Amino acid sequence: MSKSNVKLTPMMRQFQDAKLVCPNAIVLFRMGDFYEMFLEDAKIASQILGLALTSREKGPDAMPMAGFPCNQLDTYIAKLINAGYRAAVCEQVEDPKKAKGIVKREVVRVVTAGTVTEDSILDPRSSNFLLAVSMNSRTPELESGLACVELSTGLFWAVTVKKDSLLEQIARIMPAEIIYSDKDPFTLPETFKVQKTQRPDWAFNYRTAKENLFKQFKTTTLEGFGFNDSNSNIPAICAAGAIIDYLNETQRQTLEHIESLTPYHIGSYMEIDEASRVSLELTRAIRTGKRDGTLLEVLDKCITPMGARLLADWVASPLLDIGQINSRLDAIEDILTDINRLTNITENLRKINDIQRTVTRIVQHHCSPRDLGLVSRTLTFLPMFINLLSNAKSTLLKTIRDGIDPCQELSDTLQRALERELPYNPNDGGFIRNNFNNELDELRNMQRGGKEWIAKYQSKEIERTKISTLRVGFTRVFGYYIEISNVHREKIPSNYERKQTIKNAERYTTSELRKYEEKVLTASERGNELEREIFDSLCEQVIANRQNIQKTAHAIAILDVLCSLAVLARQQRYCRPVLVEDPMIRIIEGRHPVIEVMGAPGSFVPNNIEIDRGKNGMLQLITGPNMAGKSTFIRQTALLCIMAQIGSFIPAQEAQIGICDRIFARVGASDEIARGHSTFMVEMIETARILNQGTEKSLVILDEIGRGTSTYDGISLAWSICEYLHDQIRCRTLFATHYHELTEMADSFELIRNLNVAVNELNDDVVFLHKILPGSADKSYGIHVAKLAGVPREVTQRSREILAELEQNRVKVSIDNTDNESTELKSFSTTTQDGDEIKRVVPVSRKKVGNIQFSLFGADDHPIIEEIRELDINTINPVNALQLLLKWKKNIL
Ligand code: ADP
Repeated sequence: MSKSNVKLTPMMRQFQDAKLVCPNAIVLFRMGDFYEMFLEDAKIASQILGLALTSREKGPDAMPMAGFPCNQLDTYIAKLINAGYRAAVCEQVEDPKKAKGIVKREVVRVVTAGTVTEDSILDPRSSNFLLAVSMNSRTPELESGLACVELSTGLFWAVTVKKDSLLEQIARIMPAEIIYSDKDPFTLPETFKVQKTQRPDWAFNYRTAKENLFKQFKTTTLEGFGFNDSNSNIPAICAAGAIIDYLNETQRQTLEHIESLTPYHIGSYMEIDEASRVSLELTRAIRTGKRDGTLLEVLDKCITPMGARLLADWVASPLLDIGQINSRLDAIEDILTDINRLTNITENLRKINDIQRTVTRIVQHHCSPRDLGLVSRTLTFLPMFINLLSNAKSTLLKTIRDGIDPCQELSDTLQRALERELPYNPNDGGFIRNNFNNELDELRNMQRGGKEWIAKYQSKEIERTKISTLRVGFTRVFGYYIEISNVHREKIPSNYERKQTIKNAERYTTSELRKYEEKVLTASERGNELEREIFDSLCEQVIANRQNIQKTAHAIAILDVLCSLAVLARQQRYCRPVLVEDPMIRIIEGRHPVIEVMGAPGSFVPNNIEIDRGKNGMLQLITGPNMAGKSTFIRQTALLCIMAQIGSFIPAQEAQIGICDRIFARVGASDEIARGHSTFMVEMIETARILNQGTEKSLVILDEIGRGTSTYDGISLAWSICEYLHDQIRCRTLFATHYHELTEMADSFELIRNLNVAVNELNDDVVFLHKILPGSADKSYGIHVAKLAGVPREVTQRSREILAELEQNRVKVSIDNTDNESTELKSFSTTTQDGDEIKRVVPVSRKKVGNIQFSLFGADDHPIIEEIRELDINTINPVNALQLLLKWKKNIL
């Protein structure tokens, strides 16, 4: 820029100033009816927005430039935000007509992923969170602060968390943008799709942060919000203050709707780490990253966007308190006692608008008469809900009913004031009803009375001048005139003043007509001005009622969520779960909530699951062939526990569920592989987290742990992980595995049990029954699955022969080796959490594996055997399978 600095035009200097204010944003520079972008911004924008790249000057001073019409601002901001950029809107801040020299321009707003409020950009069914993370060195060690705001609704909370649970909390919140100090670099795994914004470290400083919050809330202490000066609150306050500082800088407009800071009680919610959320597909599907095929999508029968957003919060944060859960379940049960009422409520919910976001737009003065119309319409339907809930029995439904305030006075005023059809622009006028404001009525009468007056004036002048063709008319440019054709030129009275010449005629005016014109024009101007004033005053009345409206909106959102859960429970024949404190699970005829609705009705095979410290055991090993339904069964169990703790009915006939403080789901790692981590490493990192953080009240579901390493490594790891979970953590565990060797654990561990998935063999075919049975599976049916997957017949046929040979030899050699069996058993001891030493004999059964190797290849650990073991039949394609067979054949011969 230095060269061009010399000859910067005043406008480019303005652009440069704007760029200095927000160097990380693309500056949208208002020029008349267009927003223009310059230099690097223009190049980026032309790519992302598909705009033509032009240049302002020609030759060596050519400056890249791209632009779009100003009525498309929202569309282009949305595209920039979606592509991960920030947009600074630089407006003309004075009337160009009144400007002396160049029009003044200023950045009026910086839009970032976490600070968007435009309805057209936001997804109505999702919250859009901005999160601040403070890891300031001045704050207590091992603790960091989180503060979160939803700008479109004004929700604002903060909390201090342990550093090691930071990622879990971020996974729960799923913010659109995270701000953090430039002194505390902060890395996030790639799975978090979030805009990261560095802020100056001073913004996170405790004193600065407190001052920012005091200014925002107009208080001198934060104690009223539940944040005293104790050390444990410092990180939370630092983060909250940094958010306010960021919003002041980016929004440059009132943040009046952010009225309080709420403490967030992390201990009230079930912990689910990011990997488990992904594995269980709670809110995002693994393959697509979208809502389709997730638990949230199944549960979401909400009618209003406010309900849909609240439900997403509930799904992200299942409860721990049985009382709170039961109050939701009671409400659903209450709703289900009267289906007519449920239908009525859902019908009425359709008439409710997203008043949470609408009111915020009104508070921020970003609103139109239509927004007032939305509030007005919604308010008129509120008494209906109070009425429908008049016979509510459950406490929560009663609380909802009492929380709905129809804001009668405001509602009456808005109804009296607003026309049915409302414009987007308050300056357009014509949206205030007659009889609402006397002055406005008079002004309108004056405009309307115009026609009468003109007609009278015209006849009067015709009579006076004796010109029968004399006509009084009006044009926008010339105003009122008297038109007389040239043939009557001689009859023109002396008080007529020439105004305009047209073909064959002249137009005149008189002082009387001029006076009238002035009166009418002033009336219309004043009328528009008055409507604008009335509009502003109606907005102020909504703002004055905002707390009641927001409280009402929240009550309606809860009602919507409860009705959504009730409708689903009825449609899918769910049952009410019984929640208990004991770490146990007893689900009779449970179904997978998502898979069930994807298949044909009634095609899903229900299964029981019983886990307890008694006869059913705490750790259940599920063996069975691929595709039998192991993974579905264990995920289903986790999902049903989550649903129960959300306060939803669940797809089962009967269920008793012990509260889970955390759920760990280690299921598959396919997407991580693509990011360059080894499957095994990811698996072990996640396993380490389970073993370090699990408690007696946790539920752990594991699918195929140890697959990413050699078989012996894998079995030994899986074995010892099970042992640790059983002895030390003593949590409820479901472990789906291919390692049949593990099933022997059930013999020597008190609370380990075997389950398997039933299959039917019919001639050469296998039918998966998806039924979970006690005991271990004895076959793996991998070849059958290969056949289903389209592996050529030659290969599957040949595999059958090999398998038959292997199995024959296994028997033969194991008979030969019976004497050696005792040497394969290993004895060792472990210590429990209580310090008790347990001695155990572990049948590390190498006999089967080892024996096969001896008989077939005559050598222990033959590389081909190892390769066969490692082979993933699910992923290999037929050509590679054939090539492998060929290679092995060559090696053997
Ligand atoms: P595994 O983990 O044993 O390889 P999956 O759980 O992935 O098997 O299930 C394999 C297929 O069977 C999936 O397509 C799933 O939808 C279907 N399935 C699993 N369990 C059931 C069930 N109980 N009823 C009906 N279909 C099921």
